[in-house]
Amino acid sequence: MTNKTAITPNARLIEVFSAIQGEGLNVGTRQIFIRFAMCDLRCHFCDSSHTWDIPHNCRIERSPGLRDFEIHPNPVSLPMLLEWVERQNLSGLHDSISLTGGEPLLHTQFLLEFLPQVGATGLPIYLETGGHRPEQLAMILPYLDSVGMDFKLPSTSGESRWQEHAKFLQLCYDSHVEIFVKIIISQTTDSTELERSALLVADVSPTIPVFLQPVTPLEKPFAFTEIPVLAPSPHQVLNWQALMKKYIKQVRVVPQTHKMLNQL
Ligand code: SF4
Repeated sequence: MTNKTAITPNARLIEVFSAIQGEGLNVGTRQIFIRFAMCDLRCHFCDSSHTWDIPHNCRIERSPGLRDFEIHPNPVSLPMLLEWVERQNLSGLHDSISLTGGEPLLHTQFLLEFLPQVGATGLPIYLETGGHRPEQLAMILPYLDSVGMDFKLPSTSGESRWQEHAKFLQLCYDSHVEIFVKIIISQTTDSTELERSALLVADVSPTIPVFLQPVTPLEKPFAFTEIPVLAPSPHQVLNWQALMKKYIKQVRVVPQTHKMLNQL
């Protein structure tokens, strides 16, 4: 007799917690963050390099916002993660669930099982991503409500994913999801790359909001490269916003507000 028990994929997690979103279109809203392990990029400004590999354990907040973390071994079963999310989901407290990382799209098989079930919380699902895996995005797009995708500028991040970004943005725009683009800028940002980004977004739709996010300089122990990543000058920021506004209707400059608020 064959064993017909379905094998449910497990999650590789860094943490689950409740906090205030500090970036992009959802800034200031309260979210349940599910931070997935692993990333296939190596951005010079990365403030989450601890997510690149799968840790033995993940930490799970017991009560929303109290930082009373429990430690659990990886991987985590799907029912267990659903239970943790439900525990966080106090009535009226959260605006949405944030899938973040690392790169959540490295977990598509898990998400394909998880997202239809977590929909029972009634909370919108927001994906935060490097915006470079369109094939994986396409698989889970029906379950998403909003997407914040990065454009990785070679001069700032050391990564170059123009074609993938273009495909990714088009897929989002052609679907029902709310979409915005986030671009990290630093003193070394090349303005021709910003112009290329603006043209790429405008080619899909000039109405897609773009967020220019001045980099938060990393403290020495957290920097993984010798290349210093410095915040852009006020003059650079003004010039670059003006440059992009030639092509895009909404270009907002917003730094990482959660760092100012001492949030996670
Ligand atoms: S995509 Fe995000 S997690 Fe990955 S290296 Fe870049 S900044 Fe870090």
